[in-house]
Amino acid sequence: MPLADELEGGCACGALRFRMKSAPMFVHCCHCLDCQRQTGSAFAINALIETDRVELLSGEPRPSAMPTDSGRPHDIYRCTACGTAVWSEYGGLKKLRFVRVGTLDDTTALSPDVHIYVRSKLPWITLPDGVPAFEAYYSSRDVWPAASLDRRRAILG
Ligand SMILES: [Zn+2]
Ligand SMILES: [Zn+2]
Repeated sequence: MPLADELEGGCACGALRFRMKSAPMFVHCCHCLDCQRQTGSAFAINALIETDRVELLSGEPRPSAMPTDSGRPHDIYRCTACGTAVWSEYGGLKKLRFVRVGTLDDTTALSPDVHIYVRSKLPWITLPDGVPAFEAYYSSRDVWPAASLDRRRAILG
């Protein structure tokens, strides 16, 4: 993963700005039907990073609760001014943030480390060689680099 040391991003109107203080632990490209509906697109790209490594520079992210099949909470945080979704919190895990890679100033800075829920992937998308892909979810223990697993353990135990 070639990465900038600091990655900045923000919403469409510019009121909300943030900085990722380090590289994420891992990057998901999620092809599930919820992500398709919530983005109005083919998939969501999420950078998984510790919440305390995401510095809010300006603006007010406000959560909106999404319905989920599992019943576990999923809050999407949006700019209060323009409504752009900038990150998600899943399962009420406050220490882990899913930052939407498309909101980074440099959207080429991060690329998916894994493709998930490819069972609902749109048929015209061809997955790249060499990137793991799973029909549904997966075990991070099997796929993540050791350093990222250490970071995950430090926040989630
Ligand atoms: Zn905005
Ligand atoms: Zn998804």
